[in-house]
Amino acid sequence: MGLLQATRARFAKRGWHTSSECVAGIEFILTRKQMKNIRMRVKAPSGDVLVSAPHHTELADIKRFVASKSEWVLQAQRKIKRLLAEGKLNEPVQRDLEPLRKPMQHALLELLPVWEQRIGVQSSGCSVRKMRTRWGSCNVRTRKIWLSLELADKPPELLEYVLVHELVHLLEASHNARFYRFMDTFMPDWRDKHQRLNPLARRRL
Ligand SMILES: [Zn+2]
Repeated sequence: MGLLQATRARFAKRGWHTSSECVAGIEFILTRKQMKNIRMRVKAPSGDVLVSAPHHTELADIKRFVASKSEWVLQAQRKIKRLLAEGKLNEPVQRDLEPLRKPMQHALLELLPVWEQRIGVQSSGCSVRKMRTRWGSCNVRTRKIWLSLELADKPPELLEYVLVHELVHLLEASHNARFYRFMDTFMPDWRDKHQRLNPLARRRL
């Protein structure tokens, strides 16, 4: 775990003053900001520990604070490792999903007509492409649906959930109450699937 150098370089670009510190066996990136209290978080999926503190706080006090939370940090890092192992979190390094593109397209070819009929809509097709920030998208004007290749190695019911979400956009373009009523009707357990898809890494759909 730990992409500390890359994270520091990114922060430096934003003009934040950072330093690498270590206490009680915990390596962390310290960022000084205009703020009132010390804040700490464990970043997923890298497991990096990020601490931000007010400019005037003594380093010794910051280290004491981090050391007092060491058990919490280890727990959070263990949870990230577990989620990565269970495939519920996207890996920090990109996996090669290309070999899974064809099987995913085949699955969609079967799912699409079934769900179009259930929902009572007609799309102009559903294709797979690499998307960094979204699980899927639907162009309501052209009725074209795109799904992220990142879904290729997820459980099939999650692929199905994203497909249903995008198809429901053909009934309702916005994420409003009407949209979610449709989701409740067509896939009553969609919230459960949504949570499995986005345990820590948030992506839009
Ligand atoms: Zn949506």
